[in-house]
Amino acid sequence: MGARTLPTLDLKRNYARVKDEITEALAKVLESQHFILGPEVKALEEEVEQYLGVPSAVGCASGSDALLLALMTLGIGEGDEVITTPFSFFATVSCIVRTGARPVFADVDPRTYNIRPDLILEKVTPRTKAVIPVHLFGQMVPLEELRKPLEERNIALVEDCAQSFGAWRNIEGKPLRSGAVGDMGCFSFFPTKNLGCYGDGGMVTTVRSDCAERLRRLRVHGADSTYFHKEMGLNSRLDAIQAAILRVRLRHVSAWNEERRQVAERYRLLFAEAGLLDRIAPPEEMKENYHIYHQYVVRAERRDALLAFLGEKGIAARVYYPLCLHLQPCFAFLGYGEGDMPVAEALTRDVLALPIFPELTAEEQEWVVATIAEFYHL
Ligand SMILES: *Cc1c(COP(=O)(O)O)cnc(C)c1O
Repeated sequence: MGARTLPTLDLKRNYARVKDEITEALAKVLESQHFILGPEVKALEEEVEQYLGVPSAVGCASGSDALLLALMTLGIGEGDEVITTPFSFFATVSCIVRTGARPVFADVDPRTYNIRPDLILEKVTPRTKAVIPVHLFGQMVPLEELRKPLEERNIALVEDCAQSFGAWRNIEGKPLRSGAVGDMGCFSFFPTKNLGCYGDGGMVTTVRSDCAERLRRLRVHGADSTYFHKEMGLNSRLDAIQAAILRVRLRHVSAWNEERRQVAERYRLLFAEAGLLDRIAPPEEMKENYHIYHQYVVRAERRDALLAFLGEKGIAARVYYPLCLHLQPCFAFLGYGEGDMPVAEALTRDVLALPIFPELTAEEQEWVVATIAEFYHL
């Protein structure tokens, strides 16, 4: 028998749970021979609208395209500024630069790793056209602090929901899902996301009827009807095969998110029992939030040594994210430097994502925590 190993995410276990449903859904699409957009994508869009409580959902080719399509729909471009977080995946910022607008960064909260609304408001100028908060690792940014001040200044709120499908927050007495609060919500269905497909896929949600129509046009080269182009868009369509897979997985996502929460709660108890809370800071769920733990990210003392130790023992932990976006070489032209976003920069040095997925067993979690305890007690 080989040495025991544990991946960060084991998609095979999840596939085993839905294999029959997926096979059936795929067979239907193959029989139809309709592969791009079409009735399967339309059905998924309507089911997502219902699930999230939004009037419009528009499928597209990826989460990165969802962000770009949202900004294009809002008419953002040269001379405009868009405020966002330095602590996220690359696409959150590259979409801004692609439109010709300028990204402006605001630092994050060390407890939730999410961008701070008060710091966003400090960065607003007459050129600010949009704000992109990221609901990082599965819990929402307190958007109630942004809605009114942004609306008053005619600044669009574009939620990056790539890591938060199904997460919600009590906002002014109402539970609102991520993607249903701002002007637009941008989702990724990349396979490792908590609602993922078996290839690339994405979706934009919007509460604005003026935006829904333009989104649908921009994803098909800006054409209102085939070969008649009102404007230039992208080729960014969702496949029927991916939509069929997503329709199956959407039926289970609430249960899987609940299982993720149980895994997170067990980690927290195990760290406490092992007396590790002075070395490991578990993620904090903000009051009023339903965190879906897309990732379980702790702050760890001597992170790099711990990461290497876990690797030697066969446990795959990961660092999201090792380098802030304002310090990426390709964004050097923006003129940011080290020390400009002190909290985000500190996080890049001590965050560690531990294995989490709905099928992770209690016994595996005990092994992870025992191995971490072994490292600190060496
Ligand atoms: C995954 C991700 C994206 C991009 O999604 P793709 O489907 O991979 O293009 C954007 N933002 C965040 C925060 C992400 O995690």
